Amino acid sequence: MYSELEFSERSGSLLESCESELERVVARKFLGAGIHLERGPRTLVGRPDFRVSATNILIFAHGCYWHRHRCSAGSRTPKSDVLYWTGRFARQVERDSFVLAQLRCGGWEVCVVWECEVDALDPKRVMDSRSASVSVALANTGNRHAYANQ
Ligand SMILES: [Zn+2]
Repeated sequence: MYSELEFSERSGSLLESCESELERVVARKFLGAGIHLERGPRTLVGRPDFRVSATNILIFAHGCYWHRHRCSAGSRTPKSDVLYWTGRFARQVERDSFVLAQLRCGGWEVCVVWECEVDALDPKRVMDSRSASVSVALANTGNRHAYANQ
């Protein structure tokens, strides 16, 4: 597909374009596995973080706190202004599920990588799990559909 030089040039500019450390870690994992990533199309709803080049696979790198993952980080709520934060988090969760539904309707495969699970992310499994509309590809479990209904 690309020459090695092209691959490393593209990889460098992709890494430079990352807006968070989490995005950088995810991008490095895919690039390290020899899988070409590019920025998600900016015109799509939810502005996906990445797209696997030449495929219909989109990748979101989600921080557990803001996106309310079902883990300890995603369950924390500030002690003050509880009503405000509860509402804000609820809107975020609603928005995320709307975005996923819209993208899936549009024919995209969507993979959500959670911050607390990024170490176990196996990009090759993401490629293998294309029939799962939302999946977390974990290296050490057969449990990749665990978050499909979030
Ligand atoms: Zn989490």
